[in-house]
Amino acid sequence: MADNNKVSRRSVLSTVGLAMASGFAVPAAADHDGDAEQYPETCAGPGFNNTPVQPWSGWRFGDACRPQPPVVDPGELTFSEPPADATVLLGDGSNGDISLDNWESPDGSPPKWNTTENYAEVSGDWLQSKETIGDAHYHVEWRVPSDTSGSGQDPGNSGVWLASNYEIQVLNSYENPTYADGMAGALYGEHPPLVNAAKPPGEWQSYDIIWRAPRFKDNGDVESPGVVTVYWNDVLVQSQTVVHGSTPYKALPEYSPHPPEMPLQLQDHGRPVQYRNIWYKSLPTPASVVTFDSDQLTVEDRTTNLKASISNSSSSALTSVSVTLTSPSNSGVKVLPKGKTRVDRVEAGSSKSVSWTVVRLPFADDAPHLLTATVSYTIGNTQEEVAYQLPLYPEPSSENSENDDSNHPDKC
Ligand code: MG
Repeated sequence: MADNNKVSRRSVLSTVGLAMASGFAVPAAADHDGDAEQYPETCAGPGFNNTPVQPWSGWRFGDACRPQPPVVDPGELTFSEPPADATVLLGDGSNGDISLDNWESPDGSPPKWNTTENYAEVSGDWLQSKETIGDAHYHVEWRVPSDTSGSGQDPGNSGVWLASNYEIQVLNSYENPTYADGMAGALYGEHPPLVNAAKPPGEWQSYDIIWRAPRFKDNGDVESPGVVTVYWNDVLVQSQTVVHGSTPYKALPEYSPHPPEMPLQLQDHGRPVQYRNIWYKSLPTPASVVTFDSDQLTVEDRTTNLKASISNSSSSALTSVSVTLTSPSNSGVKVLPKGKTRVDRVEAGSSKSVSWTVVRLPFADDAPHLLTATVSYTIGNTQEEVAYQLPLYPEPSSENSENDDSNHPDKC
């Protein structure tokens, strides 16, 4: 077993070099899949006790032990018309303007959903926008019918699929518990909402989603992951959440390369969920402006010196540049200096170096601990922020046992 660990660790460390070269890596699923020894707890649910552990959170997919987000009454909602500079994909229903002219089925055939004067309803297939859309602010209004039935993942299950790959769950989450990362407002199977802002079935609800699509290099490696912010009924529920890949069922996410511009999809999960007032506004694209230069990143024993350079490939100077490197709480990783590292200004076509000292405290598993580097800058009059993930694979200390679970959050 020890030999296997050593081989595994060595291969993991060589992966780090590649991962850091891209500034991001998807989790190493094979290291965690179904490894009950590393994760012995069982909970009554709702959810699972035998799904893969998410390296970035320490929880399983759909973890039965994961706490439910606190319930927050969003108050009375006011639904408004789209702003004048928005592109409307589905009317707000106020003037009988519901039409599926901007939509199709994913295979390109005519849409199968039912429409009334006031909404469109899931039926027969997924719905896909005819347009491809990149970084955007989306507004979506949805309603679970008041006569919905069932519990858990059944009532009102649909979903807003960003770039056709990444689901913001739609579900009745009003007095209907399910696993935390599978409820409404969740980045499905990856990140629960910060709070539960659900309205009951029969009432309209809204999502405002700020979406930054992932970028991929020519060889298919991830250059920068997707990042999503979500307001659910005007309450913040995802704040600059880093997307770890597509959102599969009972599995760890993985990325497959695709263009930043993809159709928006709405899920058919066999439930008659209703939609209206779907619009988007395209956002400026920051991802090609800032890149981490991986070759300067080094890994040493318990203290890791992380160096990166902020490169400006645009034709305008970046001003007010700062980088914040953070580690997950209770990850056993300390980053120095804490907080913002100011670079201040990066001229067009040039780069600036940034460095940190990362101290790893001893812990047992070989899981990668994902550090998040958030780069903020101003270009022209626009403020931008882009997040990168840097995986760090700690060297277990010799006294740790296989079953040492000290690195997992206190769950049960
Ligand atoms: Mg769904």
